[in-house]
Amino acid sequence: MNMKKTADVVIIGGGIQGASALCYLCEAGIRNVMLIEMDKLGGASSTTAYTSGWVMLQEEDEINIRMSQMSFLEFLRFEEKYGIDINFIQNGSLSIDTTDHSERFHKRAEIHKTFGIHGEILSREDIRSVAPFLNLSDIESGLFSKNDGKVNADSVLQGYIRQAKRLGAEICEGTKAVNIKVRNGKVAGVETTSGFIHTPVVVNAAGIYAKQVARWAGIRLPLTNALLHVVLTEPTPMIQDNMPLIEVLNPELIYVEGRTSIGSEGNIAEYSLGNVKTESFDHVAQLELFTEKYADHILYRIPEIFNLGITNCYAGIRTLTPDDFPILGHTDEVEGYVSDCGWGGRGISHAPAGGRLIAECISKTHKLPVSIEPFLLSRFKGHALSHCHT
Ligand SMILES: Cc1cc2nc3c(=O)[nH]c(=O)nc-3n(C[C@H](O)[C@H](O)[C@H](O)COP(=O)(O)OP(=O)(O)OC[C@H]3O[C@@H](n4cnc5c(N)ncnc54)[C@H](O)[C@@H]3O)c2cc1C
Repeated sequence: MNMKKTADVVIIGGGIQGASALCYLCEAGIRNVMLIEMDKLGGASSTTAYTSGWVMLQEEDEINIRMSQMSFLEFLRFEEKYGIDINFIQNGSLSIDTTDHSERFHKRAEIHKTFGIHGEILSREDIRSVAPFLNLSDIESGLFSKNDGKVNADSVLQGYIRQAKRLGAEICEGTKAVNIKVRNGKVAGVETTSGFIHTPVVVNAAGIYAKQVARWAGIRLPLTNALLHVVLTEPTPMIQDNMPLIEVLNPELIYVEGRTSIGSEGNIAEYSLGNVKTESFDHVAQLELFTEKYADHILYRIPEIFNLGITNCYAGIRTLTPDDFPILGHTDEVEGYVSDCGWGGRGISHAPAGGRLIAECISKTHKLPVSIEPFLLSRFKGHALSHCHT
C-alpha cells in the first residue's frame, strides 16, 4: 500500500507517547492522522523498549499527581476499553530517604491526603520487614503507597495502535522523517524516506531524537539525553514475591524491584540508577563509567549484592528537561508544530495523560483536569539553552 500524501496531523515517533497521542487524537474525531516510525513501533531505537513500566500515584507536586490520577483511570479500564491485557500489577511503592530529608515524606503524605491517595509513613523497622537487605543506618522513615504498580508498556502501546487503526489512522513503520517543511512561519509538511506528506500539524514524539527533529523547524528544545543503567542479579530468596518498588532518594537515586525468575528459588533483584549524560543514540551500557560512578552507592545501600552474581547490565536513554516536566504543545515560533517530548522517567506512568493533552491541544478543547500550560516550551523563555548542548 502506498503511503498517503496528505494528513491532518503527522506524528513523528512510534514509542508509547506517539501511540497514545495517535489514539486519543483519533478518539477526539481527528481521523486523517499518520504516525511515522523509523524503526518498529516500540522497537530497539525507542526508550519504551527499555522501560520498567512503573506507574506511580506517589508524586510530590500537584501537577504530577493530577497527571498520574488521569493516567491511572485509563490504565484501570484499559483492557475493557481496548481489549488488551496490560498486566497492571499493583504491588505498591516505598520511598526512602536519608534522615535529614525525612520531613519531605510528611509533606508528601499531606498532599496525598488532599488528593485521596494512599500514603503511609513507615518506620525504619517497618521498612526492614519489607526490604531486609537494605542498609538503613541513615534512614529513619519511608513513605509507602499501596496503589502504585507496573504495566507492560508494549501492551499499552499495542492497545493504542489497535484502537487508532480501527479508527482509520495510518501507521508507517520503517519510515524515517528527515525534515519538517516550514513556509511563512507555518508547518507545510514532513519529508520522509518514503516521500513528502503535506500536513499543517506535526507532533514531535521522537524521544531521544526530539531535539534534532525540533531543529528542522528552527526550534531549540532544552533537552538532554542520559543513560539509566539496569543491573540484574542471579535469583535470590531475599527478593520476596509482591515486593513493592523501592525508591531510594539519597544520596543517589536507586530503584530496586523484583523480577520473577521461572523455575528457580527466589526472584531476580533489579536495580536501576544513574543519569549518565550521553550524546550517543545507542541504548548501550557504559560499564566502566557506571562502575566508577555508581558501584559504591549500590554496595553501600545493598551490601548483600556483594554475595550475588550479576547476570546482566543494560541501559536505556531517557530525555530530560531542566525542570523534570515534559515539553508539550504548541510554540509561538512555528504554527502547527507541537512538542510531545522530554518525558524523563514518567513517559509510561503519564502515557495516557500525555496523549490526551496532545489531543486536546490539537482539537482545541479544554475538558481535562490538567492544563497544558505548565508544559509549554514558553516556560523556558529567557532560560540559557546553551548548557543543554543545543
Ligand atoms: C531503564 C529505564 C526504565 C524506565 N522506567 C520507567 C518507569 O518505570 N516508568 C515510567 O513512566 N518511565 C520509565 N522510563 C522512561 C520511559 O521509558 C520513557 O519516558 C518513555 O518510554 C518515552 O516514550 P516516548 O514515546 O516519548 O519515546 P520513545 O519510546 O523513545 O519513542 C520515540 C520513537 O521515535 C522514533 N523516531 C525518532 N526519530 C524519528 C524520525 N526521524 N523518524 C521516525 N521515527 C523517529 C524512535 O525510533 C522511537 O521509536 C524508563 C526509562 C528507562 C531507560
